[in-house]
This record gives sequence, C-alpha cells and structure tokens, in this order.
Amino acid sequence: MARVAFIGLGNMGGGMAANLVKAGHEIAAFDLAEPALERARGNGCEIAASAGEAVAGVDAVVTMLPAGKHVASVYRDEVFGKAPTNAILIDCSTIDVATARQVEEEAAAAGYVMVDAPVSGGIAAADAGTLTFMVGGSGDGFGKAQAILEKMGKAVIHAGGAGSGQAAKICNNMLLGATMAATCEAFALAEKLGLDLQTFYDISSKASGQSWSMTSYCPVPGVGPETPADRNYEGGFAAALMLKDLRLAMDAAKEAGAYTPMGGEAEELYQRFVDRGGGTKDFSAIIKMIDDSWVPPADEE
Ligand code: NAD
Repeated sequence: MARVAFIGLGNMGGGMAANLVKAGHEIAAFDLAEPALERARGNGCEIAASAGEAVAGVDAVVTMLPAGKHVASVYRDEVFGKAPTNAILIDCSTIDVATARQVEEEAAAAGYVMVDAPVSGGIAAADAGTLTFMVGGSGDGFGKAQAILEKMGKAVIHAGGAGSGQAAKICNNMLLGATMAATCEAFALAEKLGLDLQTFYDISSKASGQSWSMTSYCPVPGVGPETPADRNYEGGFAAALMLKDLRLAMDAAKEAGAYTPMGGEAEELYQRFVDRGGGTKDFSAIIKMIDDSWVPPADEE
C-alpha cells in the first residue's frame, strides 16, 4: 500500500482517486472546488488543506488538472520542495508538450523523478478504472508510475522520454478528430445521394473506409453499436475537449514544423461547432453541423 497525494478531483480525477482507494492506497486529496472535495471524502480520501499539505510524506503524487498553466504552478509552488524527493510525480492531465517537458526538467533539477501520463478514455473509463495511460519519462519513472497507474486503467504504455505521453495523446486525438469529421461528412453525403445509412454503415464498416469513428463510435443514431448519438449526443467526449486537444496538436505541429492540414481543418470545424453552442455535446455531434441540422442546446424543445 502506498500513500498517494491526488490533486485535481474533477470529472476525471474524482473517479481515478476513488479507484486508488479501492486498490488499498491511502489518498491525501486536494482540489480548489468544494464539491470535488466532498465527493472525494465520500469515496474514502483524506482531505488536505492545500496541495502542499497533501504531498507531505507521500510515495507518489498524481495530478489531474485542466491545462499546462495549472500543472506548472501546482508543481512549482506546491510540490517541489514539499514532497519527499523519492516520491514519483505523475501528471495525468492533457497539456502541451513544451510545458510537460519544462516541468519534468525542473522536477529533475529539484531531485525528483516525474512522468507525464495523459489518458485515453473519458469519465466513464475513469470511474470504471479502464483508462489507457500513455507515459513519457525515464524507464525508472515508468516502472514506478506503472504500479500506481495500473490500478486506474486497463493499459499503461511507455511512449518514450519526457513529454512523449503528451505527444502520443495529441497525435492520437488529432487523428480521432479528423477521422470523426471525415466520417460525418461521408454519412451526410451518403444521405444526400439517397443511400440508406444503415446500408452504408454495413458496407463501409467492412470496406476500406472503416475506422474507430465509424464502427465503435458511429455518429448516426440507431446505426452501429450504441453510442452518444443514441442519447442525443449527451455524455461521451465533449466537443470542447476535442477542440482543446486539436489546439494542442496544432501548437505542437507549429513548433515542430510539421505539416498537418487535416488536423488544422478539424480544429477549424470544431472551433465553429463550439462557437455555435456545441461545446458540451459529444464530439460526434459535429455531424449535425455538417448536415446542417444543428440546433444549439439552448434552442432545443
Ligand atoms: P475538470 O475541470 O472536471 O477537473 C479539473 C479539476 O482541477 C477541477 O476540480 C478544479 O477545481 C481542479 N483544479 C484546478 N486548478 C487547481 C489547483 N491549482 N489545485 C487543485 N485543484 C485544481 O476536468 P476533467 O474533465 O477532470 O479533466 C482533467 C484533465 O483530464 C484535463 O487536462 C482534460 O483535458 C483531461 N481529460 C479529460 C477527459 C474527459 O472526458 N473529461 C478525457 C481525457 C482527458
């Protein structure tokens, strides 16, 4: 059993911390939001008065925060110098590659081993303990983090050195955003050409147009397995979070000098969809903007 500080107990972190408690770990939890702390208390976490207090005397620190600026300030102000230097530091947030590398460098300079370990899988996977972790950092860091991460996920994969987990995450999600947009376009065109959409699915899911967006997450209600499309695009992976990941991918592409026109087009489409009130809907709801049937949630009957 390890003593673990868990900082950031929101939609994702709340369920993840609960799974560490279930696995027998002792959790010192901190979040800025009272409701998040209440839920963590109910799930068996000890509540700390600050992040700095949570990390005292722990074997591991796990963070699940909104963006790079939160991660940088929590580690710089609350973790470095306050957590024991033999504690493994694990950031599971989705943040930009540059900040992940910078904070991991600062951690090393302060005597810590730190890894970036963003996740694939949404709130349901966080609650169920079935996330996939993509880990960037040294082999030693990966080994130490694996023991903690495997209690919250179904797969823990070493992606490479510092920042590689974030790099893998944004490349994967750029591909996902682009294939979802393309899948939505194909269904919208199929409909305009008079094809029955179930028939098109039956053909394309067994032909070369097949992708995860088509067969596991079909954006058309009533076609393929049950997906957010069957629940009026509620739940699932919010379009605003897809936009966040596409922006991170485009920033990283610019910095690396990579040519990513499809990713850029997907970012623009998701930006337009979020601007038109689609941010809280599942990202497959973009089909409604593409086929011109979109009604913003505020205008729904
Ligand atoms: P969230 O906004 O629900 O939770 C973030 C929590 O961090 C909030 O409770 C907030 O109060 C807390 N917080 C912010 N600053 C803090 C600070 N300085 N100290 C302590 N707590 C602080 O977000 P989420 O949906 O749980 O997402 C967390 C991360 O996981 C994000 O980076 C997101 O991109 C990534 N992610 C989310 C999903 C998803 O489906 N929600 C899926 C994969 C990855």
